[in-house]
Amino acid sequence: MRLVDIILPLAIRDCYTYSVPDDLALPVPGTRVLVPLMKKEVRGVVLREHTEPIEETFKDKIRPISSVLDTAPMVSSEQLSLWQWMSSYYMCSLGDVMAASLPGGLDKRLTNPPKHRRALLAPYIGPIESMHDLSQAQAKSAESIETFWRNGKDIVLLHGVTSSGKTDIYIHLIEAQLRAGKNVLYLVPEIALTTQLTSRLQLVFGERLIVYHSRFTDAEREQRYLQIVNHSSQATNSFVVLGARSAIFLPIPNLGLVIVDEEHDPSYKQAEPNPRYHARAAAIVLAKEHGAKVLLGTATPSIESYYLALKGVYGLVKLTERFGGLELPHITLIDLRRQYERKEMYGHFSDPLVERIRQCLADNKQVILFQNRRGYAPQIQCMACGQPPRCVQCDVPMTLHKRENELRCHYCGYHVPIPSVCPQCGGELKAIGIGTERIEDEIQTLFPDARVLRMDLDTTRNKNAYQDIINAFSRHECDILVGTQMITKGLHFDDVRLVAVLNADPLLNQPDFRAYERAYQMLEQVAGRAGRKGAQGEVWIQTFDPNNVVLSITKAHDYEALYKHQVAERQLFQYPPFHRIIRLQMRDHNAVRVHKAATQLQVYLTRIFGERVSGVIVPSVERVQAYTLRELTLRIESSANINEAKRRLKEAIDHIWSIPSNKNVKIIIDVDPL
Ligand SMILES: [Zn+2]
Ligand SMILES: [Zn+2]
Repeated sequence: MRLVDIILPLAIRDCYTYSVPDDLALPVPGTRVLVPLMKKEVRGVVLREHTEPIEETFKDKIRPISSVLDTAPMVSSEQLSLWQWMSSYYMCSLGDVMAASLPGGLDKRLTNPPKHRRALLAPYIGPIESMHDLSQAQAKSAESIETFWRNGKDIVLLHGVTSSGKTDIYIHLIEAQLRAGKNVLYLVPEIALTTQLTSRLQLVFGERLIVYHSRFTDAEREQRYLQIVNHSSQATNSFVVLGARSAIFLPIPNLGLVIVDEEHDPSYKQAEPNPRYHARAAAIVLAKEHGAKVLLGTATPSIESYYLALKGVYGLVKLTERFGGLELPHITLIDLRRQYERKEMYGHFSDPLVERIRQCLADNKQVILFQNRRGYAPQIQCMACGQPPRCVQCDVPMTLHKRENELRCHYCGYHVPIPSVCPQCGGELKAIGIGTERIEDEIQTLFPDARVLRMDLDTTRNKNAYQDIINAFSRHECDILVGTQMITKGLHFDDVRLVAVLNADPLLNQPDFRAYERAYQMLEQVAGRAGRKGAQGEVWIQTFDPNNVVLSITKAHDYEALYKHQVAERQLFQYPPFHRIIRLQMRDHNAVRVHKAATQLQVYLTRIFGERVSGVIVPSVERVQAYTLRELTLRIESSANINEAKRRLKEAIDHIWSIPSNKNVKIIIDVDPL
């Protein structure tokens, strides 16, 4: 009897064994098959031939596969390896990974081979010709990167300040790969996949460019997926795939290079559902499978990547010069405490800022107002010292739980009644955070003749709205753009002289050990939008906490200082890269039951892991739909055997599930959560 192990889109086990009828050829790994499951037929992907002996008693239970759906594998062997790594590293099933990998219908409905197999890649494409020249600094960086690669450092971190022209360097390196007949995967955060970037790459790579992102319909993504599968069998021309996070799952053959642009960007991590993977980590694994090179690019490296670069695990290349000799923007901090004290405010605008905006508009320059009011946890802050109350054990700001009248820590579960005054200085505590809509109203009242546009999730719901706003602003059909972090990514506007951050404090006070890192990244990105052509840009940051270390670091554009400060904190309070965090979220319809199960798991895990386990955490959003949530976090030393830790964690979870009352409690594991 010939047997194969099949991955099915189920969350329970990794694979299921089926037999292959005599009249069928043994399907190779990566081929899709149709198999019976209970009373249904489902699609699966062949993982491998099953060669281990099977007990006689089970033999009768093995059912035959119904049919083979592909003549050639739909999933490459490198992709299958990536799937296996992902399922083991992120502690989810192979079925979860499969569901995330195969676009739209490829894992569900039966598709005949598409009738119009229109090759998007023309059969012959002319030679690749360089369309631009690199500046001296860019050329030097490109050379250093290639030298690292030649010398066996396959992963290189390119730390280039904003507007240093990293894209030119990428293009140069991609061209070299294509000329060598290799294919390239170029990852960008979803939000950075603008027409600005795509049309620029289209100009250089023409038909060789394949774009892939989640805004495509299922059919569009399926078409691109098949295009890449078919291409591998033809192997005519090399190509480059530009895509967001999920492009990591495309079965690109003959991969020579993976670029992860804005490698620090949090959107590379899939928060929900499984697999809760980080595309940067996955890119490194995938590249290794192919023997390909990796380039991580950013103006503001993640602490984790920079740490590995300084340790020599990655090559490190720095580009400190902005393209065209442009100076980094000049940053002015406005002390809101003093402004309010003197009553020199209009709404949320300080008088000096209003004055500066007035001058910009008079000079026919554009202004960007940044207020990142979305997805903030409710916070409080001292109006006198500018600090939020922090957890004594974890050093992160605590989150406000109004109903319980408590402040809570999201890492260890520590909680205290809301203090009436600031624990640090006795000053007055106030809830913080205002939205973009309010800012838009205020600025319009201040400048009734100015043309104001707002860009946030609410104004960009319909398909072309995002692009329309960007187009209008870049054509200078609007004077002031008010927006959230959507405006920070990779956009270039020539007439912007001034960028103002209305209140930096919510950024600084997130209940997250990465808050300072994120704040710095966001402020640098926002600042990078100022001063494109000729003149130096200006950035004005309003804050109640002008002495905050991150703000002075941002003012000096001093990433090294940020890194040193953060790495010391991380070591002291046991965060990445020194410790790995695994977050467990438990859900149940019954609040009492989920709390009890969380307590049981906490006790059980503490016996194994001791103080590495947190207390039971009540998240700030405690109920989602009909579920009540509880959380636990585990912090494992990076030097420890993580596989052993995961094995014991699984054991603990199985134990919890073996208790009858916990049968319906959902437990979601998030490895390296953001
Ligand atoms: Zn205070
Ligand atoms: Zn804590």
